[in-house]
Amino acid sequence: MKARLMDGSEIDLKQDTIDALRMRLLGRLLMPGDIGYDESRTVWNAMIDRKPAFIVRCLGVADVIACVQFALDHRLLLCIKGGGHNIAGLAVADGAMMLDMSLMRGVWVDAKGRIAHVQAGCLLGDVDRETQERGLATALGFISLTGITGLTLGGGFGYLTRRWGWTSDNVIGMDVVTAEAKLVRATSDENADLFWALRGGGGNFGVVTGIDYMLYPVGPEIVGGLVAWPASEAPGVLELYRTLIEQAPPELTLVAIMRPAPPAPWLPKDRHGTPIVALLACYTGRPEEGERVVAPIKSFGHPIGDVLVRRPYAQMQTLLDATQPKGRRYYWKSEYLPRIDSALCEKAVGHAAKIRSPHSAVILFQIGGALNRLDGDHSPAGNRDARYVLNLAGSWEQAEDDRENIEWAREAWEDMRRFSTGGTYINFLTQDETPERMEAALGRALRRLAEVKTRWDPKNVFRTNRNIKPA
Ligand SMILES: Cc1cc2nc3c(=O)[nH]c(=O)nc-3n(C[C@H](O)[C@H](O)[C@H](O)COP(=O)(O)OP(=O)(O)OC[C@H]3O[C@@H](n4cnc5c(N)ncnc54)[C@H](O)[C@@H]3O)c2cc1C
Repeated sequence: MKARLMDGSEIDLKQDTIDALRMRLLGRLLMPGDIGYDESRTVWNAMIDRKPAFIVRCLGVADVIACVQFALDHRLLLCIKGGGHNIAGLAVADGAMMLDMSLMRGVWVDAKGRIAHVQAGCLLGDVDRETQERGLATALGFISLTGITGLTLGGGFGYLTRRWGWTSDNVIGMDVVTAEAKLVRATSDENADLFWALRGGGGNFGVVTGIDYMLYPVGPEIVGGLVAWPASEAPGVLELYRTLIEQAPPELTLVAIMRPAPPAPWLPKDRHGTPIVALLACYTGRPEEGERVVAPIKSFGHPIGDVLVRRPYAQMQTLLDATQPKGRRYYWKSEYLPRIDSALCEKAVGHAAKIRSPHSAVILFQIGGALNRLDGDHSPAGNRDARYVLNLAGSWEQAEDDRENIEWAREAWEDMRRFSTGGTYINFLTQDETPERMEAALGRALRRLAEVKTRWDPKNVFRTNRNIKPA
C-alpha cells in the first residue's frame, strides 16, 4: 500500500507492517474500500475530497500513542480528525495516516468542582447535553455538530462568549500525545508553554486526547431564538441591532443574519427563498429579565416569523444546526470588527442583496465582553480588540456553481474588510487563504508559537493544520 511521507515522497507499506500496527490497537484500522473508510474521511465541506492511505478510529489514549509512534517509525504524514468541521478540510490529507478521534466522545462532569472532563472526539452537543443535566455550561459555538477540539484549539466563540471569553479561555488543562509519542499534561503549572500555545495555536503541538473546561451555572431555561422580517425592513432592523448591541448586558448575545429565507416551519411557505433579515438573540440570565430585554426586538416593524421565546439552553445550542448540513459546498470570508456603524450596515445590506444561492448569508456575530478584558498575550487566540465577527458565508450545492458563489464572498469581503480590526478568526479560514491571513489571525503570537513548536515538535510531525514551522 502506498502512503505519503512527511517530506512529501511516497513509500510502499507492507501488509505485515500494517498488521503489526493493527495488533496494537483497540480501535479499527480502515483501508480504502473497507466499510466506514469513506464515511470517516468525509468532512463537512463537500469541496474537500481527500483520501488518506489508511485511517485509525482511535478508542483511547493508548491507540493515539501507538499511532504517533508508528508515524514516527515510518516518517508517515499524519492527519487528525476531530469533528471534521474545519472549512479548509485540515483534518484530512491525501496519502496520510489519519487518526479519527470521533469515537472518543466521553464527558464527565464534576458538578461540585464545576469542571467538565471531555474526550477529544466530542462534538459541542455532547458536552452541552451532559453539563446541562447539572444546570452548567461552558462557552461553546453555535452549531452542536462542530468538533470541540478543533474549535477550542483555534479559540471558539458562541452565546456565552460575552460572559466568559473564548472557549479556550475556559480551558484549565489538556492531555496531549506529543511528537515523541509521549502523553503529557498541559496546564498553567505543568508544561505552561505548551498550555499557552494550545489555546489558539491549533493542532500544531500534538494530538489532544482530553480537555478540561470550567463550567458556569446556565439555564436550563433561557430566552432565545429568532425574529425575521422581509429584507425591505433591513435598514431599520440593523439600526435597531446597533442600538441594542451598544446597551446589551453580557447575558445577551445578538446576531444579525441577512439571507434568503430557509424552508423553516416557523416562516410562511410563500416567503421561503425570499430575502430576509433576522435577529438571533440569546439571553442566558434570568428568563423574566430576558423577556424584558428582548421585547424591543419582538415589537419591531412587521415580522414574518418570531420564535424568540423561553426554551431550554440545550435546545438553543442546536437551533441553527439544520442551516449548516454536512455535504454542501462552503466558502467563507471573515473579519473581526471593533464596532458596527451605519456605513458597514449599508454595505452588509447591499452584499446580502447580491447573494447567489438560497443558503448563503451575511452574518454579524456579537462577541465583545469578557474576551476584551484579558491581556493580549494571554493566549494565541488573542484578538482582544474584537467585538464582532463578520462572516460572509457562501453555501451552495453544485460544483458548477463554485465560481459565482466564491466570487460573491470574495467581492463582499474586498469591499467590507476596511471595517476590520485587521484580525481574522483562524477557524474560519478557507483553503485558499494566504500566509498574511495567518498573521492577521495570530498576530504577534506567531513568533512565540514558533518557539513552542521548536521545543515540542522540531521535526514538524504535526503539519496538516494551519502550520507553524519550527524555527
Ligand atoms: C457549521 C459550522 C459552524 C461553526 N460554528 C462555530 C462557532 O459557532 N464558533 C466557533 O468558534 N467556530 C465555529 N466553527 C468553526 C470551527 O471552530 C472550526 O471549523 C473547527 O476547526 C472545527 O473543529 P473540528 O474538530 O470539527 O474540525 P476538524 O476538521 O476535525 O479539525 C480541525 C483542525 O483541528 C485539528 N484537530 C482536531 N482534533 C484534534 C486533536 N484531537 N488533536 C490535535 N488536533 C486536532 C485537526 O487536525 C485540524 O487541523 C464552525 C464551523 C462550522 C463548519
